[in-house]
Amino acid sequence: MSKTSPTESSTACCKVGRITQRYDLTGLDDELVRYWTDRTDQRYSTRDLAEHVNQRILESALDEAGLQYKDGEVENTYRLLTGDDVSSGTQVQTRKELERDSIPIDEVESDFVSHQTVYNHLTDCLEASLESPSDEERLERSRDKLGALRNRTAAVTEDTVAQLARNDVLDVGEFDVLVNVTVSCKDCRQQYTIRDLLEQGGCDC
Ligand SMILES: [Zn+2]
Ligand SMILES: [Zn+2]
Repeated sequence: MSKTSPTESSTACCKVGRITQRYDLTGLDDELVRYWTDRTDQRYSTRDLAEHVNQRILESALDEAGLQYKDGEVENTYRLLTGDDVSSGTQVQTRKELERDSIPIDEVESDFVSHQTVYNHLTDCLEASLESPSDEERLERSRDKLGALRNRTAAVTEDTVAQLARNDVLDVGEFDVLVNVTVSCKDCRQQYTIRDLLEQGGCDC
């Protein structure tokens, strides 16, 4: 039976569509819309959805390699690969183990999607919409915006210090730049890092 090359990408709407075909993620679009527009507090943010998609990709890759895994193992492996709190040593080790199990982890990771990609897929390809952004969605956007600003401040500071050091204007050894933004509540004088304040949703007072 003659078969033309896989129709992958010829019909795919975007990256999410492509990975849905490639990894055979049955029912993914329905899940995305349902979880995203859920009106209860179970509703997923686009960040949660991206994590869900990526875990399904990983699960499919494990299946493809014929690997057995226990309940929760996919989630845990995903965390070990991508978690902010995971050391780079652990990430490297996890990748090695997956490679040893014949999982093309570089490829799999490059297929992981960002929350922005999921958002675009939901709104542009599936034409799903929320009536208005939820509080969580707003917080998430603000968090992203401030995170980008922090990274930029760190980068500019690093460049500036490095340049002054190169020109012998400033005497400094190897250095790291940390950017901490603190918000102080004038009512109670309590101070929070902006991250903590957003996380806990307000001041204690
Ligand atoms: Zn799409
Ligand atoms: Zn306060």
